[in-house]
Amino acid sequence: MNPCIVIGASHAAAQIVASLRQEGWEHGITVIGDEPYLPYHRPPLSKTVLTGEVAHEKTLIRPEAFYAKQDAVLRLGERVEAIDRAAKQVVMTDGERLDYSKLVISTGASPIILNLPGEDLSGIGYLRSYSDVLGLKAHIQEGKRAVVIGGGYIGLETAAALTKYGMQVTVLEGMDRVLKRVTGEKISAFYTQAHEKRGVTIVTGAQASGFEGSDGHVSTVQCKDGSSYPADLVVIGVGVRPNVALAEVAGLKVDNGICVDQFSCTEDPDIFAMGDCSSFPSVHAGQRLRLESVPNATEQAKSAAAKICGTEKPYVALPWFWSDQYDIKLQIAGLSQGFDDIVIRGDMDAENFSAWYFKGEKLLAVDCINNPKDFMVAKKLIASDSSPSKAAVADLESSLA
Ligand code: FAD
Repeated sequence: MNPCIVIGASHAAAQIVASLRQEGWEHGITVIGDEPYLPYHRPPLSKTVLTGEVAHEKTLIRPEAFYAKQDAVLRLGERVEAIDRAAKQVVMTDGERLDYSKLVISTGASPIILNLPGEDLSGIGYLRSYSDVLGLKAHIQEGKRAVVIGGGYIGLETAAALTKYGMQVTVLEGMDRVLKRVTGEKISAFYTQAHEKRGVTIVTGAQASGFEGSDGHVSTVQCKDGSSYPADLVVIGVGVRPNVALAEVAGLKVDNGICVDQFSCTEDPDIFAMGDCSSFPSVHAGQRLRLESVPNATEQAKSAAAKICGTEKPYVALPWFWSDQYDIKLQIAGLSQGFDDIVIRGDMDAENFSAWYFKGEKLLAVDCINNPKDFMVAKKLIASDSSPSKAAVADLESSLA
């Protein structure tokens, strides 16, 4: 029997190697990834790896020996260019064709490129891979000015990391508040204040329109409204797009991600997709979703492995996410899309609270700031479809557990 081929060597891939063996897959496994590194944890890139507190070698998801033990072949620094579904083969850059019995696509997502005038100046970069971090680090210097374009989680984490080097950091956010896509006004205001307190300047409604430089290096970010910001380093973090081209050209259905079912299977029973590149029917959201989070990649990989090996383990785990900025640890349980009210539990000024997202009286999600206890409770409540009253949530005396 031909091997199971996995395209992309990251979170979802590392998990499926383990899960395939646990589920009893007795045939070959080949993982093909275009980055030159063993699969590594991506979240620290904008946190402890960018600050230099943790070395890249310490962020490997599994040691090299793990893949050998699982009898999985890793082809790193190599790229799949096409999927030939009729022949059940993948086509590599040099034209080599590899047969598969099952194919798993975990090609992830890539940063949205702004393509603004002057973007090719040195000192301007994106942040998705370890290579990106190396590129940015060459321009980090104490006392110099950094501009982060985009006030989402990755932009804000990057801003926090750059302050550790003593850089003067400005965040330019195009919308009227940071984190607008993912949270309510109170939480946006909390993060704005937390950053400003630590010396970061946050400018909202600022849409970058181009860059100026001297001697080939960036010196200024210009905005549509005519304002400009001096910069020695620019990091752009304005979101990602799923890497779906391989699937699309191969005729697989794509709708903001490669469409899969609850078992991570596409409409081709021999092709699966998981992680950031896929969209799946979420039992929690009641609609098709594409999530960008490690727990999502991990859970989808488990479902895919089970299905490939003949058992059905639908992806029903409650989505969760985290973000670290300075000493502020955020943990999110559930999906807040569609909320109409937020109830705060705890002390926002002390940076120790949780924000409970409701739609009507139904609890959808909880953001927990430096509050792992509330996170554990919230996860259980949402997973069991239980909604505490808003009054109980707001009352610290009432034990939600
Ligand atoms: P990816 O990690 O995107 O990996 C896909 C891999 O496939 C890449 O190596 C890509 O180069 C490769 N590839 C693509 N096309 C091909 C091809 N044709 N041939 C071969 N290889 C190919 N999530 C959290 O839950 N918490 C966090 O705090 C958090 N922080 C983050 C911070 C940063 C800076 C970034 C970038 C992401 C963060 N995320 C976080 C998101 C999380 O890292 C992703 O959800 C996760 O990496 C998705 O894993 P994946 O396996 O689906 O794909």
